[in-house]
Amino acid sequence: MESYNSFQVAQHQVREAARLLHLDKATVELLSWPQREFRCTLQVRMDDGRIENFHAYRIQYNYARGPAKGGIRFHPDETVDTIRALASWMTWKTAVIDLPLGGAKGGVCCNPKTMSPRELENLSRAYIRAIHPMIGIDRDVPAPDVYTNPQTMAWMMDEYETITGRHHPGVLTDKPQQIGGTEGRRDATARGGVITVREACSALGADPTKAFAIQGFGNAGQRAALLHREILGGGKLVGVSDSRGAIYLPEGMDPEELVMHKLKSGSVLGFPGAKVIPQEALLELDVEVLYPAALENVITEDNAPNIRARVICELANGPTTPAADIILNRKGIHVIPDILASAGGVTVSYFEMIQDSYSWFWEEELVHGRLDSKLTRAYHAVQEAIREKHVHPRLGAMVVGVARVAEAAKLRGWV
Ligand code: NAD
Repeated sequence: MESYNSFQVAQHQVREAARLLHLDKATVELLSWPQREFRCTLQVRMDDGRIENFHAYRIQYNYARGPAKGGIRFHPDETVDTIRALASWMTWKTAVIDLPLGGAKGGVCCNPKTMSPRELENLSRAYIRAIHPMIGIDRDVPAPDVYTNPQTMAWMMDEYETITGRHHPGVLTDKPQQIGGTEGRRDATARGGVITVREACSALGADPTKAFAIQGFGNAGQRAALLHREILGGGKLVGVSDSRGAIYLPEGMDPEELVMHKLKSGSVLGFPGAKVIPQEALLELDVEVLYPAALENVITEDNAPNIRARVICELANGPTTPAADIILNRKGIHVIPDILASAGGVTVSYFEMIQDSYSWFWEEELVHGRLDSKLTRAYHAVQEAIREKHVHPRLGAMVVGVARVAEAAKLRGWV
């Protein structure tokens, strides 16, 4: 079984890309570490009157290309290294899409499932009181991530505006639309992923109207199910899973009915006509396209040899381990790596920053069109790097991202 620290994996990926780009030692050192890290302990009043302490982080990995950008997680297992790794990947993700942004990530170690809405609000406001000097539309722009959402962003923006005494809607993104959010954010991650699948299928001669499967039926997974058919003109959703189990129906499931079923019953299990299969079997179904949209490290050296998908679109962050990557590449499976496949969300967040700056909001069609053009261009830039450097897709994407950040750092005279 592989075991590693996610930040060491991220550093290894940077060094591999740097070697192919012949970057000098000072540049490699700069890009292998966060530029700025902040750690603090938050004191939060709980509903029973006690004060509880929570460890929290905000890490700005690199801001050579613009203000740092990245989500905030509320999760019991966060450590400085998980946040460093996620902040590193945000840096390469914004650069691959060619957004004028850097990369960041934040986290609070807590268990939101055991906290009341009022406690979560107190925690969100305490976090902003701690990090407010280092954020802003021209510094670092947070967004939601695991167990944070538009409501969390609304509390955080309000706390920031209370401290500064001014309106600053662009200090955070993915806000509710009534207070500065954008059209098109809800399905942006999935839409971006499906656009890259469209480009991949057309380049490979793969048929997206054949079978596809989705691991994880949350925000990203549900939207991918709906958009796969809308954007690609067909496709049979034969397998799907969530934390409670996996189901299979070779004739295909109607994505809209499945979303309704999950909404009503809380799970994909029990969908009429579908049979329950083991969780592991979902990833090994005979499909044209597989969307991992749940967790990290689910495609490993143990199951990679059994994977039969022709295209894997990584909507989740880090679903494939380094050893599995090598196996998938050897098998000729076309992996669309997470820093490209799941970049639709941050792209539309960037559109939100622009709209907030001008207080002028775009029609949904304009958001979709601009997202499509950014993701399509990024997909082809990565393919060109893969061909030029003779590398696998993840390294190709890293080469594009790392080269752009290194160039910005050099122009600034940092290296
Ligand atoms: P979510 O919490 O809405 O959904 C996650 C889904 O995964 C849930 O349906 C859950 O039941 C399921 N799941 C959990 N454990 C599972 C397991 N063992 N097997 C199968 N399914 C399981 O989260 P989301 O926003 O859809 O994000 C999913 C992934 O996509 C995460 O890795 C996230 O970091 C990544 N991502 C999301 C966005 C976004 O905009 N939502 C952007 C970039 C990356």
